[in-house]
Amino acid sequence: MTCKAEGVAAAVRAAAAVVAEHRVELIDLDRAIGDGDHGENMNRGFAAVVAALDAGAPDTPGGVLKLVATTLISKVGGAAGPLYGTAFLRASAKLGTATDLDVPALLEALRAGLEGVQARGKAVCGDATMVDALIPAVSAAEKAAEEGGDIAAVLTAAADAADRGAESTVDLVPRKGRASYLGERAVGHMDPGARSSALLLRAFAEAAR
Ligand code: ADP
Ligand code: MG
Ligand code: MG
Repeated sequence: MTCKAEGVAAAVRAAAAVVAEHRVELIDLDRAIGDGDHGENMNRGFAAVVAALDAGAPDTPGGVLKLVATTLISKVGGAAGPLYGTAFLRASAKLGTATDLDVPALLEALRAGLEGVQARGKAVCGDATMVDALIPAVSAAEKAAEEGGDIAAVLTAAADAADRGAESTVDLVPRKGRASYLGERAVGHMDPGARSSALLLRAFAEAAR
């Protein structure tokens, strides 16, 4: 089973809807340990992505992800815009001009997205950032693919692992981004970017079912 540009665009639209639904939750998480704008940043960015898709959806999966990347980079300020923008840009570059997204291509895109976030933000596992959701997500996706999982199974495994990874940030002392200014005082709070990463992966997984 593969997925074409229309399927990827539908998954991106589903992600935008989930971001809108969780806007206040993400604002509240960021208000506790940052500046309270993560939900607004993400919602503004994904609303712009939907508008860009409405204006003309690209005809390849890579093209759709590139549109997501350029829109997020131009519309979302703060830390998360460039980080997610880089993730989608690297993922789109991996997919190239292929018209079909299969499981191996999905894995390459997920790995490239994570590498992009780490290249840009220099966060490692345990720094209490979106990387703590994304590293286990990519590992779980690889394992699900090895076990013969289809796109939906691979993305569901990634989303499940990202949920656990986001939960793990509650007990961590942030070492990157604004939350790091709080040090120990940030312990007890989930990282907003880890939560939004888990939400995006869940939306993609649900869309693939
Ligand atoms: P800002 O902190 O500039 O207001 P956002 O609130 O939109 O930006 O995004 C904050 C999120 O960005 C954090 O919760 C964290 O997950 C992520 N983040 C910040 N800095 C880094 C980094 N260096 N590497 C990875 N993720 C980061
Ligand atoms: Mg913020
Ligand atoms: Mg900010």
